[in-house]
Amino acid sequence: IERIEEVDGTVGAFLRLDKEGARLEADRLDMQLMDGKMTASAVLAGIPVGIKDNIVTKDITTTCASAILSNFDPIHNATVVNRLHEAGTVTIGKLNMDEFAMGSSNENSSFHVVKNPWNLAKVPGGSSGGSAAAVAAGEVPFTLGSDTGGSIRQPASYCGVTGLKPTYGRVSRFGLVAYASSLDQIGPITRSAEDSAYVMQAIAGHDAADSTSANVDVPDYTEKLYADVSGLKAAVPAEYLGDGIDAGVKSRVKEAIAILEEQGIAWEEVSLPYSKYALPTYYILASSEASANLARFDGIRYGVRHESDNLIDTYKKSRSEGFGEEVKRRIMLGTFALSTGYYDAYYKKAQKVRTLIKQDFDKIFERFDLIIGPTAPTTAFGLGEELDDPLTMYANDILTIPVNLAGVPAISVPCGFSDSLPVGLQIIGKHFDEATVLQVANAYQ
Ligand code: GLN
Repeated sequence: IERIEEVDGTVGAFLRLDKEGARLEADRLDMQLMDGKMTASAVLAGIPVGIKDNIVTKDITTTCASAILSNFDPIHNATVVNRLHEAGTVTIGKLNMDEFAMGSSNENSSFHVVKNPWNLAKVPGGSSGGSAAAVAAGEVPFTLGSDTGGSIRQPASYCGVTGLKPTYGRVSRFGLVAYASSLDQIGPITRSAEDSAYVMQAIAGHDAADSTSANVDVPDYTEKLYADVSGLKAAVPAEYLGDGIDAGVKSRVKEAIAILEEQGIAWEEVSLPYSKYALPTYYILASSEASANLARFDGIRYGVRHESDNLIDTYKKSRSEGFGEEVKRRIMLGTFALSTGYYDAYYKKAQKVRTLIKQDFDKIFERFDLIIGPTAPTTAFGLGEELDDPLTMYANDILTIPVNLAGVPAISVPCGFSDSLPVGLQIIGKHFDEATVLQVANAYQ
């Protein structure tokens, strides 16, 4: 708490601290330890965690960094929050983000910007910018973020920390405020792959409350963390080291690949030919799903209401006043793509291209264990630099979005600096094979 109070006025990672709740929780843990109901050897016992503000926490206001939810106090915890509590963590507060997880710089928060702890003139990335900056600034040992198109990995890359997007369905989404339900996944942001493995152990696994949660056995993620990686085969997509990727980023990633090669990982250049369509495909699908998911914020069921004696007026004014510019842009795009006459041309076509993108990955994983490349095309850019240009902003996720469309797991680990800013190495794995992703990330670190 002292550390957060010392630096967060500058960094801006937290939207809310819950000092009182954290102390009560810590006291409860002490009691459990004394009663022998929890052992001090439980790895996460007593570890403070910060939670992205689109993951619901009972009695702690959960806003999704949106004015429309500024007064929303959930009546239950997300499954991940309950699972962390069972593992002994203490929730210390809620973290800043782009409104409803839409953005790549955290500048779409309705409340305040987050600054990159490595250089306060730069963005932390987004949408889990608060979650990444809090770990980078030493405010909490780990946080939870969510990743729909890169929102865990890209800020982890910009802030020089480790961020894992699990396989779609691996971690329960129950209690994650939905942005694009077919793409959203919760995952840990930590200082190392080893820490990531411990957090995954606590949060992964089937949840009957989430119909898209997979009933697939969860391995012991720490078991092969230190196992020999020699003999593993990695694919390096030409598209991931081609035009549009910053020279400094390319150099650091090539050095990282050489280090993995020294450890016995054989690699080959491959192609992901359909990945060039990933951005338009993603923005049609994600905006379409968002336009449906965000229909529930009408001023009646949740959040801030614009009082009026006319119901339609209440809806309109609550939404016009409550949502920010980027959220409105996505709702408009999605509503358009789903409307009669345009559905086949946009939404249906995007679904077909999504299948082609997924097949690109399937084909590569028939021959390789991993895909390796950069997490983002550049290092952190300047605050305000891309704010007026949505398409440039969208391009930040060009290397992370295909992974969400395919549903596979991927981690971003720090791999050095370019012009004094952190670079991220992305390691992508087969469906439900987070264990190998973590193993290779740990071998690199
Ligand atoms: N930047 C992407 C978007 O704005 C990804 C966001 C995310 O992963 N939540 O949609």
